[in-house]
Amino acid sequence: MPTTTTAPTLAKTSRLALSELSADIMQSEIRAMSVECDRIQGINLAQGVCDTEPPAPVVEAAIAAIRSGHNIYTRLDGIAPLRAAIAQKMAHYNRLTCNPESGVLVTAGATGAFFAACMALLNPGDEALLFEPFYGYHRNTLTSLRIKPVTVLLDAPRWELDVDRLKRAITPKTRALVINTPCNPSGKVFTRKELEAIAELAQQHDLLVITDEIYEYFLCDSTEHISFASLPGMAERAITMSGFSKTFSVTGWRLGYLAADPRWIPAIGYFHDLSYVCAPAPLQHGAAAGLLQLSDDFYSGLAKDYQGKRDQLVDALTAAGLTPSIPEGAYYILADASRLPGATAKQKARTLLANCGVAAVAGSAFFTEGRGENLLRFCYAKRPAPLAEACERLAGLNF
Ligand code: PLP
Repeated sequence: MPTTTTAPTLAKTSRLALSELSADIMQSEIRAMSVECDRIQGINLAQGVCDTEPPAPVVEAAIAAIRSGHNIYTRLDGIAPLRAAIAQKMAHYNRLTCNPESGVLVTAGATGAFFAACMALLNPGDEALLFEPFYGYHRNTLTSLRIKPVTVLLDAPRWELDVDRLKRAITPKTRALVINTPCNPSGKVFTRKELEAIAELAQQHDLLVITDEIYEYFLCDSTEHISFASLPGMAERAITMSGFSKTFSVTGWRLGYLAADPRWIPAIGYFHDLSYVCAPAPLQHGAAAGLLQLSDDFYSGLAKDYQGKRDQLVDALTAAGLTPSIPEGAYYILADASRLPGATAKQKARTLLANCGVAAVAGSAFFTEGRGENLLRFCYAKRPAPLAEACERLAGLNF
């Protein structure tokens, strides 16, 4: 029999309370939709969980590493073979020269990389520019470190950079700019011309540029991925972040990395150590094997496969009257949900889930207050069968 106990109540004079920051922190809308979707056993196109099969060499090497005893802390910047493989990949794919001994940090996902980089390089009260629509973790990480995110709106459906708008957002407190290319949620891929315009402003205003390139291999229609740090003179002021969550379909492994000028790495590494100590040891071996053993065909196959999924979902959304903005990269689609009943995007997402059992995320999760209320974000990083089922349900949407 369970015993019932009365919870002791805190004295009225107690000073125990949530922090000031906690008042603004809540469960992300993406997670909330996933919970709701699980409850009704719907198809989850809300969260970018990427439930496709990880590549065999990655899995095999991780298992072998566990069996052969690679289960202890690693050097704080990661194991040497992985740092070497990342430096090689950076040179080959990103056109970036970095020293594996001093210019690479293996992290607990790109998430850990961003957190540690902000801790090491920005101060409370600084302003950081963020393009809108934005990835919520970027904004919330900045806010939680008491750095002020200042958003610069990009307009649908092409999300082109408006340089004047960007210039107007710069103030004497602006210290950094965050670029996410290819972008979650818009699928925008920044062009060389846009990056050059940003580089000119970064130089002029002495800004740090933090780039999140986690979707660098998810490119459609021959779009080219360009790393900001590869532009002339930009390597010193750029932090280039990426990771294995998406490319190797291992979102739960928590494995990412950043490349930066060697003068920034020790402090970033220290803050990363403070929160995470190191990235998971055996999984680092898995990622190293993947980088070394998978050929360019793997990456081009990935892009082709995902372009097919994009086209499939674009067709279904178009048939449903939810006009999509067609992404050039990443694996999300922002679609116009004006025709769905509901005053807000959250209500529209719930109406859609109730009507056809497909979960999407309210567009408002990616915009500042009042924007994105007619948009829903759909993720197509799914296995073929559930994606086909979701597309069928969407195409048959009945309102
Ligand atoms: N950055 C962006 C833009 C993302 O969309 C995501 C995941 O959805 C992440 C980072 C998370 O990356 P990681 O799993 O490496 O922390």
